[in-house]
Amino acid sequence: MNNFNELSLSKPMLKNLDALKYQIMTPIQEKTIPVILQGEDILAQAKTGSGKTAAFGIPLLEKLKVSRFRVQALILCPTRELAEQVSGELRRLAKFRHNIKILKLTGGMPLRKQEHSLGHQAQIIVGTPGRILKMLQRETLNLEELQILVLDEADRMLDMGFIEDVSQIISFAPEQRQTLFFSATLPQEIKSLSKKILRKPQDISIDTGHDPKVINQQFFFCSPKEKIQGVVSLLFTHQPESTIIFCNTKDSCRRLSAELNKLGLHSLAIQGDLEQKERTEALIRFSNRSSTILVATDVAARGLDIPDLSLVINYDLPFETETYIHRIGRTGRAGKTGLAISLMQKKEQFRLDLINETLGSSYEMEIFESLSPKDLQSLLPPMVTISINGGRKNKISAGDILGTLTSEGGIKGSEVGKIDRLEYICFIAVNKDVAKKAQQLLENRMIKGRKFRIIYHD
Ligand code: ADP
Ligand code: MG
Repeated sequence: MNNFNELSLSKPMLKNLDALKYQIMTPIQEKTIPVILQGEDILAQAKTGSGKTAAFGIPLLEKLKVSRFRVQALILCPTRELAEQVSGELRRLAKFRHNIKILKLTGGMPLRKQEHSLGHQAQIIVGTPGRILKMLQRETLNLEELQILVLDEADRMLDMGFIEDVSQIISFAPEQRQTLFFSATLPQEIKSLSKKILRKPQDISIDTGHDPKVINQQFFFCSPKEKIQGVVSLLFTHQPESTIIFCNTKDSCRRLSAELNKLGLHSLAIQGDLEQKERTEALIRFSNRSSTILVATDVAARGLDIPDLSLVINYDLPFETETYIHRIGRTGRAGKTGLAISLMQKKEQFRLDLINETLGSSYEMEIFESLSPKDLQSLLPPMVTISINGGRKNKISAGDILGTLTSEGGIKGSEVGKIDRLEYICFIAVNKDVAKKAQQLLENRMIKGRKFRIIYHD
């Protein structure tokens, strides 16, 4: 049974899932949704990108008492951008019914403004632990009627030192509730925590899943001095549509990205030092194809919903095999064959040995030779991102933007790509051939009766 229609979901929900083109459940959804609908606690593990948000989102929305304007569900996420992704996905899933109010409460936004929004009671809160705890302590957030508590990306919460905050938050919640833990990995600390917090949980684990067999893995010897040239020749040889390059340090991340850009490539870097806004922006521009290369550290990339990639490059081999498996699992999804290439030094042979041991494989270190670089052109992104300083809170819809761009004398609808609407900003991808024109249209035309500030993201 893996079709949503086979679950006892409401008609409008099924219709909406259909509109979202969700027909087949992902394995984690198939295993968790029925159990959550029955009201049981779960400890669920599945890799990034496996559809965990909908796994808890669908049953949670079905259980909601829509007419009751009290906080009924709380979803804790480790970072603001994950909270943004989760609330976005929940909003899409919630479209089937009116009057579902989802509120995102995270740091970096004025506390008072958020407290004011809460005044108009939301039923679902998505937030980061620090901000939620603060509001509970200030008694501006009340969990008395909480039914469902979700801990998303539990392993990352742990990495980021949030477990103490999470425990405190839980002390504000009623004992009678359903609690769901979702995590990409299950370190011992998470298992112990789950024993304290969950009631007779069902352990649901989807085999680490990134079937490494469908991923073509290669390991090249490369001295530290040759690494950048090595990356360039890999890119030119394979001409991937989208690539993520993992570095072990923020510093090499920054440097590599800068060097690639000097050579005329288009890369963006995400690492922990970037401000939240910059990270979100980089991720959006990568996902909407305004950049074909993302250079990232593990911490910055973990948990993020990055679309299927043609190529994963390990600029450095990671320190842990589990991290390696996690990184390469970004490619080769949905039955496609992926390619993962690691650069390594001789002294790292033991790391490759550990990988082989874990995967039961027998990869060997190769030397660069057989590469045949092609032209730069097809490595360049097809799209450009333009942003306007108005978003969901300004009641701007994707249709408004599309209308402005394509109405008489405008550009074709097919030249507009992904439109990402955040609270106070929208990012619009347009085909690069018409990007300047799109910029002018947005500058000169009104959207919802007013003009916005336009930024062209080069
Ligand atoms: P995770 O939290 O496990 O990393 P997400 O919940 O972010 O994964 O989902 C990854 C992507 O898959 C999202 O873009 C989501 O919209 C999409 N998705 C989820 N479930 C389905 C489904 N059943 N069919 C098609 N796409 C899905
Ligand atoms: Mg997730």
